[in-house]
Amino acid sequence: MSREPTIVIIGAGIAGIATAVTLQRAGFRELTILEKGADVGGVWHWNRYPGLACDVPSQLYQFSFAPKPDWSSVFAPGAEIQQYLRDVVDRFGLDRYLRLNAEVVSAEFTGAGWCVVAADGRRWEADFLIAATGVLHHPYTPPIPGLDTFGGQVAHTARWDDRIEVRGRRIGVIGNGSTGVQVVSALQPEAAEITHFVRTPQWVMSVPTTLRQPELIGRLLSARPGLNRRLYDVLLRGSGILADVATRPSWRRRLVQAYARWSLRFQVRDAQLRRRLTPDYQPLCKRQVISGSYYRALRADNARLVTSPIDAVTTGGVRTADGAETALDVLVLATGFHAHNYMRPMNLRGRDGVSIDDVWAKGPRAYRMTAIPGFPNFFTVLGPNSPTGSILLQYSAELTARYIVKWLKRFRDGNIDTVEVTEEATTSFNDDVAAALGPTVWNTGCDSWYLTDEGTVDLWPYDRKTMTAMLSEPDDRDFHVTPAR
Ligand code: NAP
Repeated sequence: MSREPTIVIIGAGIAGIATAVTLQRAGFRELTILEKGADVGGVWHWNRYPGLACDVPSQLYQFSFAPKPDWSSVFAPGAEIQQYLRDVVDRFGLDRYLRLNAEVVSAEFTGAGWCVVAADGRRWEADFLIAATGVLHHPYTPPIPGLDTFGGQVAHTARWDDRIEVRGRRIGVIGNGSTGVQVVSALQPEAAEITHFVRTPQWVMSVPTTLRQPELIGRLLSARPGLNRRLYDVLLRGSGILADVATRPSWRRRLVQAYARWSLRFQVRDAQLRRRLTPDYQPLCKRQVISGSYYRALRADNARLVTSPIDAVTTGGVRTADGAETALDVLVLATGFHAHNYMRPMNLRGRDGVSIDDVWAKGPRAYRMTAIPGFPNFFTVLGPNSPTGSILLQYSAELTARYIVKWLKRFRDGNIDTVEVTEEATTSFNDDVAAALGPTVWNTGCDSWYLTDEGTVDLWPYDRKTMTAMLSEPDDRDFHVTPAR
């Protein structure tokens, strides 16, 4: 007996597109992709703040199945990445499966499959449900007293409003993660004054992030696909250094950390400013910030660094603990995300009505990033413990999608009706991960969005080879399957 599984994928960002193309190429056609945004791209659709770019080289920040040789820059701007993702959707004909403006509010396992409901009441039935809902998805707005009384314009970077006038204005930016650093660098030349409110200094590694990619390179790589492929392979292998330095203490880690320290020393000569910009934790512990322009922007005459804690936002600006008030026209919140929500606050209910909120009461938890006990025929792509700090996300998403394909094929071939990971396998995986996270740099005593409320590190502690091995073939001992009736 052979039957086509119906599959709903939630999310049309990098994870969702990687999944849809992988499934389609494996012959699955009964797909529905539900995307709450008005276009595809995930973070690259939602984020439009000035200075948005990707600090991963673009020749690497792409799907293996959709090489793009002709990026404009070594680190492409956000709009170009979003356009690339749109082009991939067009090129692979994903539009036929795609439902935009479809925010999933509820997904329940019915005993045989899934019933998915969108905010506007539309419903879908599916044999399998795949959550590709992303990590940096729900903007975090800190509960600063008086924020709602501010008389100027205020925007979270992840919900930037193009009508915000920045030229010649007095701009305040709260937050100095990768986003805050990009936005300060971009706005400083335009602003009358720019004030960067920094609660915890970050290491900012000097990398020439504004380098253009010579057109000739794009033309050469377009004409020689084999060479382009080899370049991608070399870069992918080279990127292994990230997982290496992050997960294992070694001279290589110390060398990279020394470079981060040197970046600050070399670029900020003013000892007092440098002292205020010096973190009290190891480089790489938080998501490493990379910039070729931030320190220069901060040294400009119209830029000011404020490290006194924020007491309140007033109608006219920001008041800090030292009693000073900074008058502002525009307040930018580069304050990050609720990074551990994943598909929540969706009402996700698995076998016997168990809810994800209950199952994850002590923090997000999955088996090998993709399967959750109690949730049959359900997979996550870039789910808990995904390697957001160390391994290329496109690689991880494609690998996970191929793993899911193996289960879908068994359904199609009439071998199984349902598959659900066991509690034992999930516990054992999570115990191993917790032990392996011990020597990682993320665990060296800083506060970062990698940490869950329970204090665990929500990252992947292994290298790419280990990830590939773990997701190459399902291990039946780790799953309950119900044979096809
Ligand atoms: P983030 O790294 O979580 O940084 C949030 C910032 O807001 C921190 O500096 C935090 O300070 C500050 N903050 C939060 N609440 C505050 C408060 N009440 N008062 C003062 N400061 C407050 O967020 P993000 O910069 O948006 O970056 C998130 C992730 O997105 C990055 O780590 C990266 O993975 C990704 N990203 C990537 C790129 C790229 O180029 N690939 C670009 C942008 C973002 P504390 O440190 O004191 O908490």
